[in-house]
Amino acid sequence: MTAKPRSRRLELVESIAQGAVLLTADGDVMAVNQTARRLLGLAAEDRIRKAADVLVLPVLADAVEEVTDSGEAVSLDTDHLGARLRVSVSMIRDEVLLLITDRTGEHRVDQLRRDFVANTSHELKTPVASIQTLAEALSVVVEDQPERVPELIRRLNKEAGRLSALVHDLLDLRRLEEGGPMERAPLDLAELVRRVVAAQYDRAERHEVEVTVHAPTELLIEGSHRDLELIVQNLLANAITYNEPGGSVRIEVSSGTAPGAQEGVEPGGDVQLAVIDTGIGLPEGELDRIFERFYRVDAARSRTTGGTGLGLSIVRHAVEQHGGTVAVASVVGEGTRFTVQLPGAGNS
Ligand code: ADP
Repeated sequence: MTAKPRSRRLELVESIAQGAVLLTADGDVMAVNQTARRLLGLAAEDRIRKAADVLVLPVLADAVEEVTDSGEAVSLDTDHLGARLRVSVSMIRDEVLLLITDRTGEHRVDQLRRDFVANTSHELKTPVASIQTLAEALSVVVEDQPERVPELIRRLNKEAGRLSALVHDLLDLRRLEEGGPMERAPLDLAELVRRVVAAQYDRAERHEVEVTVHAPTELLIEGSHRDLELIVQNLLANAITYNEPGGSVRIEVSSGTAPGAQEGVEPGGDVQLAVIDTGIGLPEGELDRIFERFYRVDAARSRTTGGTGLGLSIVRHAVEQHGGTVAVASVVGEGTRFTVQLPGAGNS
């Protein structure tokens, strides 16, 4: 069989969507396409003649040597210039072909999954162990001390509720972290806020905290109803929980183009949601960390209040999914303000 002319080979290699490098078994470079140059970090003016000019990582040179010796194809993953690359090396007759794919995105998702499994299994253990202990206690007392049964059932229900909240938060967070496509629809943020506040009326009463809403009658934005609800729910629940009896929470919803507007319809422009409490506040050094998953300033307090430690991670991811930002300002003993900025309808 006759060898293809060099220009034909170059054309072929350039047409491959992945990064592609073609070498002779003697180590001369026959062709390198643009994608391979970019992934390997080779500048257009770099002289590329010998295999060593393209095999910028020792693992690549080793793989080429192995493939030329054995004739068997090899595939490997390696990190280069901040990217995760998958490189397949194979022999085509007496030439060596390297195909390079950028797998950074897939690798990030794999890593997220691994981290997720590692720290969630730890967090799940506590409520699961409590449920087991309570169920065992129940089976013992049911005959000998029936008067203790209602109390154990109450505690069992509470732990099951905590486990269920944790599982729901985990599923929401995973969905948001993976950043898949989002269902967007026009919706009224002011109305959504009023509904969330009504749903948390009991919590506010229990904590003796007064909640007020300052919003125009209607404020249209484009977004995911479920995710915007999660943002408001979590910020409000925290503002009530990390408060003191007699304290207050003020929620302000306004259009960035008309700040402070209280009445009427507010279409377009940026939208601001502020949740301001008169609660326990946060030390300066904690302000960045509170958005990390499972981070709690006071783990003991958070546990007694039933917090999962995931609320603010969910808020941050949901806000980012909408192309918005979230900021926090706080004074210990005085209170905290979370400010969410979102693109208005038609601006996202
Ligand atoms: P949790 O389920 O523990 O409330 P979050 O992710 O919602 O988890 O919040 C993380 C931590 O940030 C909380 O444990 C709490 O220490 C702190 N925090 C959140 N919101 C407030 C707030 N409004 N005032 C004071 N501290 C807060």
